[in-house]
Amino acid sequence: MHSIEELAGQHFDAIIVGGGINGAGLARDLALRANVSGHPMRVLLLERSFWGTGTSGKNSHLIHGGLRYLKYFDFALVKEALRERALLLKLAPDTVRPLRFELTAQGPIDRIFYGAGIALYDLLAGANRIGSSSYFSSRLSYWDAASDSAALVIDNVRDARLYGAVCVPGRGVKRLRADGVELDNGVRVKGGCVIDARGPWIGGEAMRLVRGSHIVLPRLYEGDQALAHFHHDGRIIFFIPWGDLDPVTLIGTTDADHAEGADQVEISWSETEYLRTIAEQLFPASSKMPLLGTFSSLRPLMAAAGKSASATSREHQIAFRQDGVLEILGGKYTTYRSMAEQAADMVVNKIAPDDGLAKIHPTREVPFKVPTCRPAGIEARIEWAKREEGCPNLEYFMTCSTNWAWQRRWTLEDLAPIAAAFKGDAEAFVERHTPCQS
Ligand SMILES: Cc1cc2nc3c(=O)[nH]c(=O)nc-3n(C[C@H](O)[C@H](O)[C@H](O)COP(=O)(O)OP(=O)(O)OC[C@H]3O[C@@H](n4cnc5c(N)ncnc54)[C@H](O)[C@@H]3O)c2cc1C
Repeated sequence: MHSIEELAGQHFDAIIVGGGINGAGLARDLALRANVSGHPMRVLLLERSFWGTGTSGKNSHLIHGGLRYLKYFDFALVKEALRERALLLKLAPDTVRPLRFELTAQGPIDRIFYGAGIALYDLLAGANRIGSSSYFSSRLSYWDAASDSAALVIDNVRDARLYGAVCVPGRGVKRLRADGVELDNGVRVKGGCVIDARGPWIGGEAMRLVRGSHIVLPRLYEGDQALAHFHHDGRIIFFIPWGDLDPVTLIGTTDADHAEGADQVEISWSETEYLRTIAEQLFPASSKMPLLGTFSSLRPLMAAAGKSASATSREHQIAFRQDGVLEILGGKYTTYRSMAEQAADMVVNKIAPDDGLAKIHPTREVPFKVPTCRPAGIEARIEWAKREEGCPNLEYFMTCSTNWAWQRRWTLEDLAPIAAAFKGDAEAFVERHTPCQS
């Protein structure tokens, strides 16, 4: 493993800043491309905290085409996402799994409308369809997929490393230029192509930050299926059976314009109320249930004048900025692999235009080579996270290596063995992660 001081003054062909799914996916693509082609390529991935601490670890954990985008006639985006869904189910079966959804349609008109939407969804999926849907019965249902989203980021990093990429967490970048970066400790590293994958932290006028929040309640119903509830305000709220420690329900998401900085992201009182009220309408018993956890993150969307947060396009933009840095902006987690592929084509066209690397697309076929099946049980999982993922502390273990921070109302007693394993401050953790009851 390289210390960052060792990297000072070194030259890399590609330097990627930001270890969310887009940065990690790009690092894996470039490293794998170099490996498959035998073309030497030095790839550096820098993350200021830990892999998946940003939006990529605090989202709805769905690998989906996005049924609701049909409403906005975003057919191309839905089709691409459905193709990627099928590919990820095949290439990352330990972290991406099929999930059946039932729809909460109110009356016959709703049922016809949503049934037709599901039929169109399946039509767009074509050969990439998974499971069989129910279009016109009283219980509408369709299939999508769910992931462990920070885990898949970590697996991309681990695989990128296996193919030779240098991936360094815990190191922020202060300045990005076309020919290198300056780290927050003043160290400079030179690069043939610099890529800005800082997601919501990229900033700038073209970006609109929209906050999405989730709440976690105990399991609300029997069965493994998720629920997609089309609320009368036009939002879709998912109820997802969740939890590998305790069985819980993940409920979200909201869509609220975010005026604060990218570092201050937490659920507001009104978002909690909004989600709890919808939960109570569908499952009255939930009103007496404790709120187990909440988390929020930001969507970096491309600003579109006059459009609501929900209606703003999830399409991505990958382009060289005026300062010569390649920027990856917007998009969906589900389409990360194809975004990484597109970005990697642009990187290799810049650093080695005559070598034919832009025609090699191995991430379409090559499954993850690192072991990705996480062990069950607290002790085994801690050991895995330390050994396989290089997880350095309690916070990252509970929020990136696992989703356990939100699966339980932690007491000091409960948390003690995990905190001890990471020499972490259990009291500070419990205080930080105990949600206010609304
Ligand atoms: C609430 C919500 C729910 C969503 N649900 C889904 C879903 O279910 N399915 C789906 O397909 N998509 C979903 N999305 C979209 C998806 O999660 C994002 O598009 C995707 O995670 C963005 O990844 P990213 O790598 O660009 O950003 P991030 O994951 O935010 O990564 C950026 C990284 O850059 C790092 N960084 C920042 N500044 C610096 C610096 N100076 N130096 C070094 N590193 C730095 C950060 O620490 C962070 O790790 C959701 C989005 C939101 C907000």
